[in-house]
Amino acid sequence: MNNQKYLIAANWKQNGDAKSLIRLINNFIRLYKKAKPTCDILILPPAIYLETILNRLKHHKVSRKKISLGAQNISPYQNGAYTGELSVDMTKDYNCNYTLVGHSERRHVFNEDEKIISKKVRLSIESGMQTILCVGETMAEYNSKSTKKVILRQLKSALVKSANLIKSDHNKIIIAYEPVWAIGTGKTASLDDIRDVHGYIHNSLSKILGTKTNSIKILYGGSVNNLNAASILVLSNVNGALVGGASLNSKKFIDICSSI
Ligand code: PEP
Repeated sequence: MNNQKYLIAANWKQNGDAKSLIRLINNFIRLYKKAKPTCDILILPPAIYLETILNRLKHHKVSRKKISLGAQNISPYQNGAYTGELSVDMTKDYNCNYTLVGHSERRHVFNEDEKIISKKVRLSIESGMQTILCVGETMAEYNSKSTKKVILRQLKSALVKSANLIKSDHNKIIIAYEPVWAIGTGKTASLDDIRDVHGYIHNSLSKILGTKTNSIKILYGGSVNNLNAASILVLSNVNGALVGGASLNSKKFIDICSSI
């Protein structure tokens, strides 16, 4: 790409409680104001704490353009009798402008299939959200050299029905390449593999969408931390990171944000 800003996203998953997450965001904002990183930052808290975190950002007068909020998951349906679900439009009430779709924990722990992921992507884009689609291979798929085949299938199945929407605004989709075996394990993909797969994702997006896709951001995720972030973020076609574990530590997370 391009002169777009890097995006560093914090996926807090199902961690913490009101007290600990308020402490985490307060500490992070304090460090953020000192370090003044140039990247865009996204916080994906557990949905029940979106309002709490939004209020902290407002209290500290942090522009939502600098630190955005997003939903870790959304319903594949607009609204209605879907007990326990969270609609994409509900998240807008808390100033969310990003959603995360197809995270490997949604695919593998909650058995979300490609049809559901495709519906979520479409609904999220239609509703104006910047939609982060996660793709990535399992260890078995990596070992059998099927990474590219798996990623192509995941991209196609998730994006084909939204191709026209994406073509009209490339900002609406962001891809996160997250090898399943690298998430929460302390193992990261090799720099060569990250470079290679991110290049492949760009080529695949161009084919699927039938247009140049240089401005579509591709994030890397999978055990990114304060020590390895700089070497990953400098790679071509890496436009940011999706960070789980290390985002729960304000110092580590600000160091990641400051490493580019
Ligand atoms: C993730 O949850 O998307 C993730 C990459 O987690 P971790 O950084 O802990 O591997």
